[in-house]
Amino acid sequence: MPRARTAYQVEKDKGTWGALSEEQQILQAVQAEVKSLKDANLRLKNNKKDGEKDKSKSKKKQKQKKEKKVNTDRDPEPKWKLSTPKQSEPKQKVVEGKKYYWCPHHNDGKGKWMLHTISECRSNPNNSDGKSTQHTVNVGHSTGHGSGTSGGGGGSK
Ligand SMILES: [Zn+2]
Repeated sequence: MPRARTAYQVEKDKGTWGALSEEQQILQAVQAEVKSLKDANLRLKNNKKDGEKDKSKSKKKQKQKKEKKVNTDRDPEPKWKLSTPKQSEPKQKVVEGKKYYWCPHHNDGKGKWMLHTISECRSNPNNSDGKSTQHTVNVGHSTGHGSGTSGGGGGSK
């Protein structure tokens, strides 16, 4: 009766498992199989990991940092705009074709040269209470009730 040929039997036939008992041989065969399965699993896992790594890498590549350019050469606020005019100096001047007015409602109350007058300033508390309500309501109740009962008295001489 021919026995089914298993892996360990093949090894046995090759004569590599000589001294081991049959049980040990079976055990070794099972262990070898388990190991090979594990190895296969590990390989699969590693492949997956590698794939993920590659993905994240490519993402990083796409996210290449864009270096922000700081505009240091262009000064939007010239220093003279914050320089308070002396009392003798005028509170308005023309710079580069633009008329500037010294408005004390800016720069934390220190004042600043602006393109609007103080009266035009939105930060001016005098203007902020807004709604310039001009009361020009004419209350003209001219009630003309002429009660002409005063007749000319007959002068009796
Ligand atoms: Zn202002």
